[in-house]
Amino acid sequence: TGTTIGLDVGGTKIAAAVVDHDGRVLRREHVPTPASNPDAIVAALAGLVSRLGSDDTAAVGVACAGYLDAERESIRFAPNLAWRDFPLRALLAQACGRTVVMENDADAAAYGELLHGAAQDADNMVLVTLGTGVGGAVVTERSLRRGAFGIGGELGHIRVERNGRPCPCGLRGCLEAYASGNALLAQARAAVTAGDPRATALGVRCGQDVDRLTGPDVTALAQDGDPLCVDLVAEVGRWLGEGLASIAAVVDPGLVVVGGGLSAAGDLVLEPLRTAYEANLTGQGHRPLPDVVPARLVNDAGMIGAAALAREAQCRTQAGG
Ligand code: BGC
Ligand code: ZN
Repeated sequence: TGTTIGLDVGGTKIAAAVVDHDGRVLRREHVPTPASNPDAIVAALAGLVSRLGSDDTAAVGVACAGYLDAERESIRFAPNLAWRDFPLRALLAQACGRTVVMENDADAAAYGELLHGAAQDADNMVLVTLGTGVGGAVVTERSLRRGAFGIGGELGHIRVERNGRPCPCGLRGCLEAYASGNALLAQARAAVTAGDPRATALGVRCGQDVDRLTGPDVTALAQDGDPLCVDLVAEVGRWLGEGLASIAAVVDPGLVVVGGGLSAAGDLVLEPLRTAYEANLTGQGHRPLPDVVPARLVNDAGMIGAAALAREAQCRTQAGG
C-alpha cells in the first residue's frame, strides 16, 4: 500500500511525518502554522507532503484543530485558526495529487492512542489534548463518537465558569480558556507584567519581554521546580479535573488520556487533575476511578492517528470499496 503521511495542523505549528503500518514515525518535519491565512495553510501542507513523500506515498491524513463537517470534507469553524467553512480536503487532494483524509485533531489523536498508544485496551475513554486549544475525543465501545454533525466531543468548550474568561470560540468560561497551553502562557505573562515577585525566573527566561515567552518555557520551568510555574501548571490540572468530572457524569470513562504539548509536564499536571477529578465526581467513593494517564504517543498522536485513517481509506479504495 505504500507509505502514508500524517499531518497535524495546530494553532501554532504544523507537524508532519511519514508513518509506517505500526504507527512508527519514519521521517518528520514541522513548520509554523500560517494561522491567519487559510490558503497559506494549504500551501504549507502541500509543501510538507512533497518534501516528505516519495513515489509510493499514496495517502495523506490531516488532523485539524477545528470543527469538521460530518463528511470530513470541510472545516466549519476553528477557534484558533482562520478556517471558516473551508473545503480543505479537496483543495489539498488537488494540491498534492493523493488520497487525502481529514479528521479533527483530538479525534485523530484518540484514534492513534487506540491503535498504537495508551488506549489499546480501552473500551470507554476520553482524551484531552492540551495545546494552543483544548481538544477532546469521546470513545465508547472502542468507537469514536463524532456526533450527528461531526462536532461531538469538543470537551474544550464545556463551560466551567459562568461569565468566565473569554474563549477563542466566542463564548466565555470554556475549559479551553483555563486549561490550554495558551491559557497557561497568558497567566505566566500576566504574572511577569504585573511584577509578581514569584515571576523572577520567568522574567529572566524571556529577557523581560513577555512576547518571547512560550508555553514550553513555562512547563520547562515547572519541571525545574520554579514555584510559580509549578502552581500555574497545577491550576491547569485542577481546572481539567473539574471539567472532566462533569464529563464523567455523561460518559463514565474507564480511562482518561491527556495529550498535547502541555502533557509533557507529566504528574505536575496529572496529580492535581486526579485530585480535582475525584473531589468533583458525582457518587464519589461509590464508583471506580479511571486511570488518568499521559498520551503514550505524546504530541505525535494526532499525526499518527490521521496517517492510520488515511491508510485505511486507501486500502478501502484499492479493495474497490
Ligand atoms: C478546537 C478543537 C481542537 C482543539 C485542539 C479547540 O479550540 O475547538 O476542535 O480539537 O482546539 O486543537
Ligand atoms: Zn470555547
